[in-house]
Amino acid sequence: MTDIVEYRKLFIGGEWTEPAGDDIIEVVSPHSEQVVGRVPHATPEDADRAVAAAREAFDKGPWPRMPIAGRIEVVTRIKDALAARHQELAELVTLQNGSPILFSVRGQALSAVGVFATALAAAAQFKEEDERQGTGGPVLVRREPVGVVAAITPWNVPQLTIAGKLAPALLAGCTVILKPSPETPLDANWLAELCADAGLPAGVLSVLPAGRETGAHLVAHPGIDKVAFTGSVGAGKAIMAAAAQNLTRVSLELGGKSAAILLDDADLSVAVPAIVGGTCAANSGQACVALTRVLVPASRYDEVAAVLTGAFAGLEVGDPSDPASVVGPMVTKDQQQRNLDYIRIGQEEGAKVLTGGGIPEGRTTGWYVEPTLFGDVTNDMRIAREEIFGPVVCLIRYETQDEAVALANDSEFGLSGAVFGADAERATEVARQVRTGTITVNGFRLDLAAPFGGYKNSGIGREFGPEGLAAYFEYKTVNLPAPAKA
Ligand code: NAD
Repeated sequence: MTDIVEYRKLFIGGEWTEPAGDDIIEVVSPHSEQVVGRVPHATPEDADRAVAAAREAFDKGPWPRMPIAGRIEVVTRIKDALAARHQELAELVTLQNGSPILFSVRGQALSAVGVFATALAAAAQFKEEDERQGTGGPVLVRREPVGVVAAITPWNVPQLTIAGKLAPALLAGCTVILKPSPETPLDANWLAELCADAGLPAGVLSVLPAGRETGAHLVAHPGIDKVAFTGSVGAGKAIMAAAAQNLTRVSLELGGKSAAILLDDADLSVAVPAIVGGTCAANSGQACVALTRVLVPASRYDEVAAVLTGAFAGLEVGDPSDPASVVGPMVTKDQQQRNLDYIRIGQEEGAKVLTGGGIPEGRTTGWYVEPTLFGDVTNDMRIAREEIFGPVVCLIRYETQDEAVALANDSEFGLSGAVFGADAERATEVARQVRTGTITVNGFRLDLAAPFGGYKNSGIGREFGPEGLAAYFEYKTVNLPAPAKA
């Protein structure tokens, strides 16, 4: 029996303070179904206090006013502490959301460290202002921090999605109110302690573990200058509509239904591990970038289906704290049921379960779903169009390369993707034709130094690297007087 991780206070304005209400969020392990954590549920009243503290720190405090070198120093200390304590962080994430521990180490904790590192590298190149010759005289172009940022994050990769907002926002000189998902409040509170220890000034960060009501209150708050959101398309649309009232800036990182295109000369020894790594082995399929539509030339369909079926059937499913587990439980019972519902819908639509299709045998505790491969899927089926968010993958036949590209693009989403082919140049040319924010040739990769984000309903804006840092600045033009004539 694990000890319960308990917080009785909220981190607001740089100190641990009494919550306004008495509601408690209970964190339940998706593996054991036992309570593993408790934190106060932040209310709109708490959110008002956090906004007041963040506003004060932004409008009057030292953080936005110090030279960027000072912020780089503090953020470097945060990054170093995260790196030193990454195993502890990974275990905390696994405890809450059931991420298999190896994924938690690499895909959650070390990825967050990587995002801090690439943001720091971008900040080192940053120029606060430059002078240019305008049409009417000399012009000073300044980059100023956008202001108070509300960072609203999901449960699936909590630290990676927090890092993609917190690191650039802090480096830019913004103050941040983090509202983590109610499924994963513990790692957010843990991070607040770490940031305070690293010397982040009071008011620069507040953490509000809460559900959507407190989130919606923050989004509509006139004291917020920018909302940086990662989550579902539905919530993204609601947030953008609410933010429009105050013309609050928004960036949205939303869902996906990404395609892996196997060209006719694809090497399966390359493609299959990448597809497994980009689906079931990516946080048990609960990944926005998952390659959930595998597009296969009809001439190689039987061969690919056989190899992928074997690969999926052989995956180790079990206790996420066991390093041998490749696939863990779904985060909640609802999420498990959602997967089972889609598996039923797929069969009703005429797709064929090649492997998996239910709860793993003997699993009476924990919210597990078998790695499931559907064959005979057509791109108009719901299982090919809607984000399932679990280890459920569709095999879709195509006849020509142009048809493969058209199928990849025939989606409301455009977040990720992959192209596999023996001729890397040809595969890269196909990658150019897919309307998606990230696509990998002969692999599955999310590069933390390159812009990451979505086309279409997968979002607006980019995170990571120099483009991710740029998202936290406003430009200001100062028209300078013409130099006096000699
Ligand atoms: P969700 O949209 O239900 O919740 C995300 C966060 O938003 C939570 O903190 C939630 O409390 C808050 N929220 C929900 N509605 C809100 C509202 N109206 N106003 C303010 N806050 C609100 O998503 P989830 O189930 O936690 O996460 C899964 C989704 O996130 C999937 O769709 C996945 O694809 C997406 N995701 C995208 C990326 C990316 O970078 N593109 C990364 C990870 C996850």
